[in-house]
Amino acid sequence: RPEFQGKRITVAGLGVSGVPAAKVLHGLGAHVTVVNDGDDERARAQAAELEALGVTVRLGDGDTLPEGTELIVTAPGWKPDKPLFTAAEKAGVPVWGDVELAWRLRGPDAAPWLAVTGTNGKTTTVQMLASILKAAGLRTAAVGNIGVSLLDAVLGDERYDVLAVELSSYQLHWAPSLRAHSAAVLNLAPDHLDWHGSMEAYARDKGRIYEGNRVACVYNVADKATEDLVREADVEEGCRAVGFTLGTPAPSQLGVVEGILVDRAFVENRQKNAQELAEVSDVNPPAPHNIANALAAAALARAFGVPAAAVRDGLRAFRPDAHRIAHVADVEGVAYVDDSKATNTHAAEASLAAYESIVWIAGGLAKGATFDELVAKSAKRLRGAVLIGADRALIREALARHAPEVPVVDLDRTDTGAMLQAVQEAKRLAQPGDTVLLAPACASMDMFANYNKRGDAFAEAVRELGA
Ligand code: ADP
Repeated sequence: RPEFQGKRITVAGLGVSGVPAAKVLHGLGAHVTVVNDGDDERARAQAAELEALGVTVRLGDGDTLPEGTELIVTAPGWKPDKPLFTAAEKAGVPVWGDVELAWRLRGPDAAPWLAVTGTNGKTTTVQMLASILKAAGLRTAAVGNIGVSLLDAVLGDERYDVLAVELSSYQLHWAPSLRAHSAAVLNLAPDHLDWHGSMEAYARDKGRIYEGNRVACVYNVADKATEDLVREADVEEGCRAVGFTLGTPAPSQLGVVEGILVDRAFVENRQKNAQELAEVSDVNPPAPHNIANALAAAALARAFGVPAAAVRDGLRAFRPDAHRIAHVADVEGVAYVDDSKATNTHAAEASLAAYESIVWIAGGLAKGATFDELVAKSAKRLRGAVLIGADRALIREALARHAPEVPVVDLDRTDTGAMLQAVQEAKRLAQPGDTVLLAPACASMDMFANYNKRGDAFAEAVRELGA
């Protein structure tokens, strides 16, 4: 890649995207300087590793643009209003994210991209998609925030026929020239607004995933904002808008008819106007939001030409990642379900909609969210609620407003041990046939290192109950 030879490139941020990006660019003959806000032990270790290769690293100052910078390659999480980017704009220096870098280095030549974004369901959908593509005998991988890194996928030795790519709104913000084969926006709900600045800006960044699509732009019929993004996108001639719905599909849509997932967008047999793909019970777990994820994955696979039988086999083979509506155990006729990954209200709403009679364990860091809509929509399904974490008062107040008859236990605790007590309280409220559901609607960092640890604590507490 001669265009990188001798070029002065600033890599913004060490860490999972910065270190490999710096190595690759250095290897291509660029003069790389890494700037990093933090100056802790981990940063120093990473810096030492890069400096040994001949990369310059500046720790503790991520805001000053190094002299002579011709290009910035940034970690996706860096906020667009940082002084570094203001300075870059003034100096006319372009900014690429990790996805843009992968795309420019070899994106289009490595393999076509089937891309997925959305507020919730990205990881699940991309994994379902990869499972379907594998069932069709294609060489593929789930890449992006999960599994294989994008740089490894496009530059590594492994050959792929097609990639299933998860993209966050941050990554899309910094990826202006990405052009996917086909892409899906699963849903759009307020999240990360502090980063993007507004809902409009967030939606605009998500909508970039459709730009330049060649075959299909997949949208959610129940979420009009996703359809609007398709309409606004500039796509290749012949690229189609394909909707997915939990209801009966119109032409050009995938949907559900009497428990069967059917495709009316990519019909194989011209005698028929619909292609049966799989049964709802092939989806794991068959909760409504997850059937929507399966339909989106199927739509992208079908856009790539995958036959119906592979959709069914791929969905059957799919197992969800931990902490995503994971059934932990049944204790005395009560099911205990871990959806620790429900870190925002939109996700929690989906999992609460999947059960009839629920003792809900919720709370944590609210990230500026409000809970009125979530509680109002879920009130009739609640047997009770147990609240933990820093911002639990917000949920308690919403419950008092919209579900005054639901018994609430407010634990007033933010220590890690609170989870055991929460599960014990939930057991007391639950009756046989109920589900005790951990769907916090909040981030975990007030009490736990991450959502995995929170879910593990829940599962551990359930095991103690059963013991
Ligand atoms: P992401 O990668 O977008 O964070 P995941 O697939 O990891 O999404 O799912 C995160 C959580 O979001 C799940 O635990 C579930 O609570 C919820 N969820 C999954 N799919 C959907 C969907 N289609 N709509 C709403 N919520 C969903």
